[in-house]
Amino acid sequence: MSEHHEGGCHCGAVTFTIGGAIRDVTVCHCSICRNLHGGAAAYSQCRAADLAIAGEALRWYASGVGSEYGFCPECGSSLFWRRNDGMVSFSAGALRGEHGIRTTHHIWVGSAGSYEDLSRARPQHETDSASALVARDG
Ligand SMILES: [Zn+2]
Ligand SMILES: [Zn+2]
Repeated sequence: MSEHHEGGCHCGAVTFTIGGAIRDVTVCHCSICRNLHGGAAAYSQCRAADLAIAGEALRWYASGVGSEYGFCPECGSSLFWRRNDGMVSFSAGALRGEHGIRTTHHIWVGSAGSYEDLSRARPQHETDSASALVARDG
């Protein structure tokens, strides 16, 4: 059975469909995501080839570290993150409806803001998901 997912920004100027599998959610606490999203960024992911973005509104912002963030210039919704690897991350909060995905881990917790409460968030990785898990017991 082929998968189909839909999402978009708050104002509706940017909508997208995904005609393929989507990944569970990774929450990124890096300083760039926190700055651009106004907080930690909850991203699912799909193959770039499965993603169709409607309309001309979407703008891409180069982060300066080899990746780009896609956002709506009308309402400011943060929607996408990509680097040149054939995949696109998209904000889980932009999906319409229920998609059966869940948060599986937190990354870049070493860059988390002091205001963030990660006491119950597991598993946690100091940098990316390939890094060692962070023990936060105690
Ligand atoms: Zn919008
Ligand atoms: Zn990030």
